Amino acid sequence: MVDLRYDVAIIGSGFGGLVAGSLLSQKGYKVIVVEAHDKVGGFASHFRRKGYSFEVAVHLIEGKGSSNFRDLVFDELNIWDVPLIKSPDFFSVHFGEKSFSMPCDYENALVRLGQEFPNEVSGLRRYFEDMRQISKEHIRFQQSSIFMSLKNPMLSLSYPAFTKFMTISLADYMNSLFKDQRLMWILMANIGFYNDSPGAYSAAMFLLNQAFYYEGGGYYVEGGSQALSDHLAKIIKDHAGEILLLHEVFDSELTEGHCRAIFARRSKGNKAEITKIVADKFIFNCSPSQHTQILKRSKPENPKPSGSAVTLFLGMKSDYVAPKRFSYFNFFGDFERKSENRMSPSALEFSLVNYAALPNADHKRPTLDATILDSWDKWNVSEEEYSLLKTEVQNRWLRRLEEVAPKIVESVEWVEMATPQTIQRFSRNSAGAIYGYDPNSMDLEEVLKRRWAQYEPVDSILKNVFYASAWTSSHGITGVTNAGYQAARALLKRDGVQFQLRF
Ligand SMILES: Cc1cc2nc3c(=O)[nH]c(=O)nc-3n(C[C@H](O)[C@H](O)[C@H](O)COP(=O)(O)OP(=O)(O)OC[C@H]3O[C@@H](n4cnc5c(N)ncnc54)[C@H](O)[C@@H]3O)c2cc1C
Repeated sequence: MVDLRYDVAIIGSGFGGLVAGSLLSQKGYKVIVVEAHDKVGGFASHFRRKGYSFEVAVHLIEGKGSSNFRDLVFDELNIWDVPLIKSPDFFSVHFGEKSFSMPCDYENALVRLGQEFPNEVSGLRRYFEDMRQISKEHIRFQQSSIFMSLKNPMLSLSYPAFTKFMTISLADYMNSLFKDQRLMWILMANIGFYNDSPGAYSAAMFLLNQAFYYEGGGYYVEGGSQALSDHLAKIIKDHAGEILLLHEVFDSELTEGHCRAIFARRSKGNKAEITKIVADKFIFNCSPSQHTQILKRSKPENPKPSGSAVTLFLGMKSDYVAPKRFSYFNFFGDFERKSENRMSPSALEFSLVNYAALPNADHKRPTLDATILDSWDKWNVSEEEYSLLKTEVQNRWLRRLEEVAPKIVESVEWVEMATPQTIQRFSRNSAGAIYGYDPNSMDLEEVLKRRWAQYEPVDSILKNVFYASAWTSSHGITGVTNAGYQAARALLKRDGVQFQLRF
């Protein structure tokens, strides 16, 4: 058995773990990151097939804005050094032959929407006004050293917009402003980024998340999200840290309210090599189902997992040209529910990412990927049923794509589909959760607290164990960057070191 000693050991190299690790490395801590895969990044990584490079998950991140706390962490870690490619627009929504391309800034979005929906201009003004107001309040919320409970009567004085929209569902909010269903679906096209339905999701949360894009623009990372993850891994290595790939953490040594060591296994054929990693502190970037097992907890404290998804990865022939009306990020809808190939009962069926629409795109090996949100239960079936379902969904999807982009199928050179089962295998997230916990299953106050920059994700029993992932704060590159910051800050505080980023 190999024996290693570090100040901090991080279990999982997802973006949240890498952010925590690189912040601590810069503060002088000797960090090791232990990752089960052969590359860092978790969902923020890529994979290759037949000369094609596919993004595992991350397609769009917010550019530098004015109220996104994440930006302060990006500054601290020089993440802006990684070149970003601006998406020509936020997204396009296609209902049949009709397309709408959404600009990714407040002013142009209002103008374009106003031209398309002249009877809804006053509602549109209100919508963007509410969004700006919430984003301003968000800065104060993140700076505040005291977390204000939702029950506190002073809340509406300090955060009037938040208080007003927090407990209103997005659907009710939209209905209070607009009449046109098509407009509402255009504005909510990317609700799937938050894995939720308008009837259940808080209007305040939606407005805040949208504000980050309208303020900062939507970007793809040059070289894919792998480049972001590699940037952080390099910071750790440059500060005498280590990234241990292909090692799955499976056990721990616990004494007197502390974790003393973790054990990682590297499989080589029939044999397994075990490494013991002793550290002062531990940060778990993996899912609750994993750390429950590693920390030998009998009762899982799992928050309910978010929903899952199915993604179709398409490697296209080099001469493939997507229809002109397709932008980089596209949503397809079908109000009239005509097609037998429909992919979902929602008005918005699926998203399609068309990398060729980006400046600097690789036109030699163009790729597309399409995603629908889906449930674990539907895919948690016998092996035989799973294989039939997979074939049926893939074929139906290709037929549906042929309807929205005629002759697309003849240009497909490589096709591969990831299901909730694939996602569970890849991420070790229970139920193939794509966004960590399900915010609707949690008390609203708790959801809000977890998003607060001063939140301390410390284990309630083991005083040297911290958490940093989509399961702790919130998901997305923004959510897990904040989660990494929260963990690093809480750990430093434990060592008597003050670390606080401020706008
Ligand atoms: C389909 C999809 C599309 C998305 N699109 C976007 C987008 O466009 N923009 C955006 O900002 N976000 C997007 N997201 C969300 C974003 O990718 C995630 O929220 C974020 O990357 C999760 O980071 P994390 O730190 O929680 O770690 P994860 O990415 O979940 O990584 C956890 C890591 O821990 C490792 N691990 C687990 N258990 C062990 C163990 N026992 N031992 C060792 N290693 C272990 C795993 O292998 C993995 O590498 C998308 C997600 C999905 C699934």
